Amino acid sequence: MSLVDDFGRVHRDLRISLTDKCSLRCTYCMPAEGVPWLERDGILTTDEIERVARVCVGLGVTEIRLTGGEPLIRRDVVDVVARLAALGRHVSMTTNGIRLAELAAPLRDAGLARVNVSIDTLDRDRFARLTRRDRLPEVLAGIDAALAAGFEPLKLNAVAMRGVNDDELVDLVEFAVGIGAQMRFIEQMPLDAGHTWDRGAMVPADEILRRLRHRFELTPVGGRGSSPADTWLVDGGPGSVGVIASVTAPFCAACDRIRVTADGHVRNCLFAREESDLVPVLRGGGSDDDLAAIVTGSVAAKKAGHGIGSPGFVQPDRPMSAIGG
Ligand code: SAM
Ligand code: SF4
Repeated sequence: MSLVDDFGRVHRDLRISLTDKCSLRCTYCMPAEGVPWLERDGILTTDEIERVARVCVGLGVTEIRLTGGEPLIRRDVVDVVARLAALGRHVSMTTNGIRLAELAAPLRDAGLARVNVSIDTLDRDRFARLTRRDRLPEVLAGIDAALAAGFEPLKLNAVAMRGVNDDELVDLVEFAVGIGAQMRFIEQMPLDAGHTWDRGAMVPADEILRRLRHRFELTPVGGRGSSPADTWLVDGGPGSVGVIASVTAPFCAACDRIRVTADGHVRNCLFAREESDLVPVLRGGGSDDDLAAIVTGSVAAKKAGHGIGSPGFVQPDRPMSAIGG
């Protein structure tokens, strides 16, 4: 069985949000005061996560990415990783890096294959303004620990923002190349809780590349498959940089992702307006076939694209932190 939609896209990439809570308050994601958190008993238990993941693996999922909110906030995150890795699929994580200093080695031992760390700036004051928390040293220690634990290739993600960190793109690439990691820049998407996204404040991919080309020779690396990033070798390699043009050159046509929120809702797109609730089946005595039917139905209803920029586009009610980025 496989998860194929009306456009022939085969879904193999499952993103599971482990929590909606976070240790940071990035301005493009959460308001200063946070958002109303999900009820504690509404969050999927580790048994439930494992069951949903197993059903999805039975439907052809080959990649499981853990995200949030901040996945490392979840107390039993190492156990979650161990149980999902035991399903025999590739398990990875996107994290803000806080707590990674202590958790990188145990996560690696538990079977985590890859880790992406989000870091938008290397300047401590700027980091404190941007995330509303003075915790850059912890993120840097987390990156060191991830490298020491053998996570390779290590990818670092930054959202490029005009007037905030767009003067730092070259520095971020130099930092990443210097430690043997890959820097990836993401166009800012309309997924902030405050609904303040403004196209003008977004730094588009072509501008990111123009700025980088002032300093580096960039050689395109082809064959991105279902990866959202276009990649370039930096000064002939081996270092490389990725750009994720989610807004100006969406990768919807090759999208193979489905998402499960921390409270057990299946979403077929970051920007979906509808979700399918797995909890009544999970907690009401339903079967694995019932769960599979919900996931299959969600994929079947997937739209061709997110439609940002089209006149009818409406931002989803949930912010990125509650969907699972
Ligand atoms: N807390 C973890 C982190 O920051 O990596 C995982 C969750 S976070 C929602 C996942 C990724 O989404 C991060 O790389 C973050 O920068 C990105 N992100 C959040 N809001 C975004 C937005 N409005 N536009 C583009 N990327 C965004
Ligand atoms: Fe937290 Fe990640 Fe959102 Fe920043 S982007 S507030 S670290 S969930």
